[in-house]
Amino acid sequence: MNLLFTKNNGFPSHPDDMSGRSREIVERYELPKLTFHGLRHTYASFMVSKNVNFKIIQEQLGHVNIQVESSIVKVTFDSIFAGETTKKPSVIFTFDDAWTSQYEIAFAMMLERGFKGNIGVISNWIGIEDEIMSESQIEEMHRHGWDMFNHSANHKNLTNVTVETAVSEVLTCKNWLNERGYNRASTILAYPYGVHNKEIVEALQPHLRYARTLVEGLEPTFPLEALIGKIKNVLTLPAATLMSYVDQAITTQSTLVFCLHKIGTEQDEWETTYNRNDFSTLLDYIYEKKDLIDVKTISEWVSGNKS
Ligand SMILES: [Zn+2]
Repeated sequence: MNLLFTKNNGFPSHPDDMSGRSREIVERYELPKLTFHGLRHTYASFMVSKNVNFKIIQEQLGHVNIQVESSIVKVTFDSIFAGETTKKPSVIFTFDDAWTSQYEIAFAMMLERGFKGNIGVISNWIGIEDEIMSESQIEEMHRHGWDMFNHSANHKNLTNVTVETAVSEVLTCKNWLNERGYNRASTILAYPYGVHNKEIVEALQPHLRYARTLVEGLEPTFPLEALIGKIKNVLTLPAATLMSYVDQAITTQSTLVFCLHKIGTEQDEWETTYNRNDFSTLLDYIYEKKDLIDVKTISEWVSGNKS
């Protein structure tokens, strides 16, 4: 056995020995109060400041997420936030707007593989728009464990209306979902068009647990910046690209949130239909890797459910 910390005679030492010895050193040299575990954070910060490749830092430390936003580098440790070290990466399928093809095609394809997804409901569109699911279809998917999340009442750009209207758009949809027993994700929002600003985020903060933008990126295994959630938009990307995101989520111990619209074979005028064969290839790939990555509902992830 190759041990890093041993007694003088080479036998394994008790974890407390090391903490005790590090405390002695801190006191003797009058260093700032720092626990032995805290060295992990110091080490990560030091490596970042030396421009060491993030991949290398991640490999050395494990369970660490490193994000770069403009010039700010944010290092977070899953194990600290989630209170455990065995969290598995996960992939979450969010289907926006509740298009019928999500029920007719995606639902069956995911069910076949034992996967659950999430539907972004625009409450005032249900039962009105042709290409939008009916209440009974929504009910059926919910019964199979799918989350119905908040996509507002009318799909307005929330930054183009008053703050009061924006809040009411979100609360109307929340009430619609709750009245029907779809409580799990009624306080989880996808901003219509992904659009948000500081004012809207602040106004919605008391009403929501999580909100999804269209900002591209991976999320940590436990959501941190709860109202500016990142996604990977599938657009019309080849399955291979989406599969590489899955690999990335596995290697970086992250959560991958896919944003999808329609599923089918014919492209629509807005190019929001994802090819069903590519979707099938992606699902098979994830199924193959199911020991390494979980398919979760958005409420399971936001609630911090253990895997
Ligand atoms: Zn939408």
